[in-house]
Amino acid sequence: ERKAALSTSSGPGTTSDGHKVPLLANVGGPGDVPAALEAGAEGIGLFRTEFLFLDDSKQAPSEEKQVEAYRQVLTAFPEGRVVVRVLDAGADKPLDFLTPVDEPNPALGVRGLRSLLDHPEVLQTQLSALAKAAEGLPVHLEVMAPMVADRTDARAFAEACRTAGLRAKYGVMVEIPSAALRARSLLQEVEFLSLGTNDLAQYTFAADRQVGAVSRWQDPWQPALLDLVALSAEAAKAEGKSCGVCGEAASDPLLACVLTGLGVTSLSMSAAAIPYVRATLAKYTVAQCERAAAAARATDTADEARTAARTVLSGE
Ligand code: PEP
Ligand code: MG
Repeated sequence: ERKAALSTSSGPGTTSDGHKVPLLANVGGPGDVPAALEAGAEGIGLFRTEFLFLDDSKQAPSEEKQVEAYRQVLTAFPEGRVVVRVLDAGADKPLDFLTPVDEPNPALGVRGLRSLLDHPEVLQTQLSALAKAAEGLPVHLEVMAPMVADRTDARAFAEACRTAGLRAKYGVMVEIPSAALRARSLLQEVEFLSLGTNDLAQYTFAADRQVGAVSRWQDPWQPALLDLVALSAEAAKAEGKSCGVCGEAASDPLLACVLTGLGVTSLSMSAAAIPYVRATLAKYTVAQCERAAAAARATDTADEARTAARTVLSGE
């Protein structure tokens, strides 16, 4: 049955009644692009640029080296969207030259955008490399910052993009509950939101994503997490802007329907998940997705939320 569903599934992500939900791929570099194309990704929703920085622990790669790598990814989706995340160093992704070594709680320390604002030259080089890589290409380049906590962060990132002369949309990731709670205020500074549900779960439940003993709180079906997704999506809708999901949550086909019902406007996931999400989304209307989302949010545990959504969707 799975095979049959997949063979009939190709093209853009859409519900059975034609509501479009672009299905994008998460990549770590040019090497991941063929799988994304193979899966029929409509673009890239999260380009994790950390890989480029792993070769040398003492300094950032040169601007030329960065331009080369970005261009390879951008040319693969000539008419599509490519969302590049600026360097997300620290915590689970430490980098000697950027992140402090003596922090008692690295996940709560100087990581993500915080470390880039402490090293503006690294951020400027990356943004300028992105601007050069996109020059002359029809691609829709979007650039976003990780670990944004408040409007001051969002403004600092927007200013850095303008300083670099970037002609791209710029946005912020929602990975910290404060960002979801004040999403409308962040959207006064930037043009889109992208929910990083892995970190958002970590910070909502105070549960380290690297500690197996607290993994039950990494379950993206947690109703509190769904509430924060809903807040962000509603804020984006009110501002006439987009709000995607690029965390692991988007790769669960049933949850992808619930996220759609919560008002999320695009889903980005590992390439392998795209055909399954596309096939499942195509079975339901937006109204069904909305009912499943409401049923999931009305519960108190991740398991109950999953069961409630499944019951709504299988019963209709
Ligand atoms: C996330 O936190 O959900 C995310 C997409 O970013 P990363 O997993 O790279 O931290
Ligand atoms: Mg993250």
